[in-house]
Amino acid sequence: MSEDFSLIIHGGAGALEQIKREGNETDFVKSIHGILEGGRDILSAGGSALDAVEHCAIQLEDDPLYNAGRGSVLNEYGEVEMDAAIMDGQTFQAGAVAGLTAIKNPTLLARKVLEKSEHVMLIGKGAREFAKFCGLPRMSNDYFVVDSRIRQWREAQKVGRMMLDHEAAKPSQKLGTIGAVARDCAGNLAAATSTGGIVNKRWGRVGDSPIVGAGVFADNETCAVSATGYGEQFQRTVLCKMIADFVYFQNMDAQAAALAGIDYLVKKVQGLGGVIVIDRNGKCAVGHSTSGLIYGWIEHGGESLCKLA
Ligand code: ASP
Repeated sequence: MSEDFSLIIHGGAGALEQIKREGNETDFVKSIHGILEGGRDILSAGGSALDAVEHCAIQLEDDPLYNAGRGSVLNEYGEVEMDAAIMDGQTFQAGAVAGLTAIKNPTLLARKVLEKSEHVMLIGKGAREFAKFCGLPRMSNDYFVVDSRIRQWREAQKVGRMMLDHEAAKPSQKLGTIGAVARDCAGNLAAATSTGGIVNKRWGRVGDSPIVGAGVFADNETCAVSATGYGEQFQRTVLCKMIADFVYFQNMDAQAAALAGIDYLVKKVQGLGGVIVIDRNGKCAVGHSTSGLIYGWIEHGGESLCKLA
């Protein structure tokens, strides 16, 4: 079996001082490493990029360290509302869900939307009904809401603002959305992004994560991208597609395209966030305008590298 696969996952961008101050760095590195190795098992056995990104995104959703699935941030009413999307770069099919409550793994539902519906995105009550139809597990609110999120939400309410996950109410930042991108041994690309959104966000607000081209994109001819950051800025710049366009029209590799994308984000909207990118040749890259990004990658089947950059 060929070992020429690549995989990157991220656990959000932001100022990571708080994580470092609290000595939680090793928790993140351990988690990222374990999830990457699970992805390696799938890809090295000849599994598809789509299966690998779905698997990694679900593991990240299940880990309360991240702002997705269990451990999602809270909206203005102290509730969890999640967004997720997955895209197959071989078929150009995508599935997305937004404003989702109760469903344990939004990425799993997004995959069902991709495979079993004729649509790209389902939202709210309709998405929950579709999940029921697909027999996906539901959880009570208590499953999703963890203590650290309640404290974070109270801080945000006190100062009356919305913020990224890896961000403290008294300035400094943290955004903990998750994402995964992969290139399998057959050369197919896929991407997934999943999030609880922004702390103290308005009820019904949908960010970039479930929007194809904004928070997620995959095309075998160019690259696979997953984003994290202030969703409104990624929506307005259609940033993930912009990065793919740098590959398509200017023949950039993953590194050059990631950097060009982040430059564009900053230039156009003074955007704050980060991206992970794998190009059609399996080259891995990240870019961020925040001071930090939590990520790990396996490039061309090599050693895994985990970083809180
Ligand atoms: N991009 C996400 C959103 O705006 C937030 C994040 O990346 O932390 O919903």
